[in-house]
Amino acid sequence: MTLIPTDLNEVYRYLGFHGITPTPEMTGIIQECLEKLQEVSAPRSFYLYTPLEIIPAGEVSTEEVSAGEAAEASAPEAASVEGASAPLLRFAGMEVRSKGLARNLAGCREVCLLAATIGPGVDLLIRRAQVSAMSRAVIYQAAGAAMIEAYVDGLNEQIRQEAHARGLFLRPRFSPGYGDFSLGHQTDFARVLEMQKTCGITLGSSLLMTPSKSVTAVIGLSDHGTDCREPGCEECAHPCEYRRV
Ligand code: SF4
Repeated sequence: MTLIPTDLNEVYRYLGFHGITPTPEMTGIIQECLEKLQEVSAPRSFYLYTPLEIIPAGEVSTEEVSAGEAAEASAPEAASVEGASAPLLRFAGMEVRSKGLARNLAGCREVCLLAATIGPGVDLLIRRAQVSAMSRAVIYQAAGAAMIEAYVDGLNEQIRQEAHARGLFLRPRFSPGYGDFSLGHQTDFARVLEMQKTCGITLGSSLLMTPSKSVTAVIGLSDHGTDCREPGCEECAHPCEYRRV
């Protein structure tokens, strides 16, 4: 069993306990659920580094527009009108049109593509609880969400150390479906990272991942530091042009 260090406060946050102090009894139940999740979790991950090219919106040629939009067109939410005026990003054979991702990756020449999961056992535990003890199912959902984030934070740290050893710094991770980075690119991640083979992750028709507690992300590598905060841009007060929101 691989223990994934998961902050209880994060579980409370996913449960919506804003300003509420859980009773000792509630804390005990949550800890018990967390322990059960640890027992059934089977974390797997895969990541790779690949060069990045960003073509500003005004410099995208007609041919490049066609190629970029062809890739986006496979998405259920195909390229929006706004997307057509977004920069074009190329990495690992993907073509992504996204203002948000382009801003986050500005100045980077390389990205890390990542897929990670805490495994199918977590979903099984949630489904069983849904028929026998709904309140526990809600806790498993919240604790599972905190656990996959904690697992990815650990991977992020490993990637950070690898980057630092090469004199590079990380931007906060950015996932398909975030802002104008189309969820349709999940199919690109599945192909490039061979997610089924490397992590046991499959995509449904709505592009949601199975196991449900899975994450895909792109992380920019830059040769100058930005003092990024681990919790990400949403909780960072640093004045910064790379903010992802
Ligand atoms: S806003 Fe903060 S966390 Fe986000 S890229 Fe800038 S420095 Fe990093």
